[in-house]
Amino acid sequence: MIVVLKPNPDKKQLESFKQWLSSKNIKVHKSEGINTTILGLIGDTTQIDIDSIEALDIVETVKRIQEPYKNSSRKFHPEDTVISVRGATIGGENLTLIAGPCSVESKEQVCEIAKAVAASGATVLRGGAFKPRTSPYAFQGLKAQGIDYLIKAREITGLPIVTEIMDISQLPLFEEIDIIQVGARNMQNFELLKKLGTLKKPVLLKRGLSATYEEILMSAEYIMAGGNKEVILCERGIRTFETHTRNTMDITAIPVLKKLTHLPILVDPSHATGKADLVAPLSKAAVASGVDGLLIEVHNDPEHALSDGPQSINLESFDKLSKTLFAIHKVIQE
Ligand code: PEP
Ligand code: MN
Repeated sequence: MIVVLKPNPDKKQLESFKQWLSSKNIKVHKSEGINTTILGLIGDTTQIDIDSIEALDIVETVKRIQEPYKNSSRKFHPEDTVISVRGATIGGENLTLIAGPCSVESKEQVCEIAKAVAASGATVLRGGAFKPRTSPYAFQGLKAQGIDYLIKAREITGLPIVTEIMDISQLPLFEEIDIIQVGARNMQNFELLKKLGTLKKPVLLKRGLSATYEEILMSAEYIMAGGNKEVILCERGIRTFETHTRNTMDITAIPVLKKLTHLPILVDPSHATGKADLVAPLSKAAVASGVDGLLIEVHNDPEHALSDGPQSINLESFDKLSKTLFAIHKVIQE
């Protein structure tokens, strides 16, 4: 971190700033010019709040040289993180397809979809039991019963299950869940992230509607700092000025995040676009861009889905798409 001081800084204030840095085990390298003095801070500055330094009377500007995220940074962990859960592998050389309905609606529905997507190459089943809906009057999910149905679908197919948690109070119901999803709206629910950091269970962290790359990595950092290193990131579209699609899929996120972090990166083309006919082209683009996996909403009867029917693809479309995706993945591996 580099701190540029204002001309003629108050000596007392400068001394107390240096003492404070030293109490944080940060060494200071002072470089004095004719008009400007620059302090180079040497040591672990991840815990230093840049805003509180900038607010000091003696400080002109502050610049971070090192990323504020350490656990998730590729600099400190060059190899890809590979997460294994009940035989499914996420990260590394693999392309992982996670598929299933937006919401679990009944035992029959989720079991039928699970069997079909497993036969088509999906290795993880998704399904919402607790649903974050924009309207309080919309279907809110089957809650505990939905989780029971997911477990039933796992018993039948062997697929590990991922489902979204919306609040810490729901955690006791997630004991049997293989991967806990944190939705876009909760990406910065720091208390929830901290709690998930104490678990020994992978967390699928979705990018917030207007979150920067650094913000999602800092959210991952909350989980990892607690000891849970199994975090999977998911680009699911961000808010832009475009209204034609539900969100705008940020394809750039894939190569950029791959460079910044060792954590697996997924793309959710369903929430990114809100339109079933855009799921295939964007999934192909994501695989071509080096994504580690896709999270796709698949329904056995999209027209009658209780949530997100318009963006859900049917079983046949998923079967066809998965073949193409594995073929593209094979080409880009070569
Ligand atoms: C979901 O995956 O069901 C979901 C609600 O996603 P997001 O948090 O990305 O909106
Ligand atoms: Mn959905």
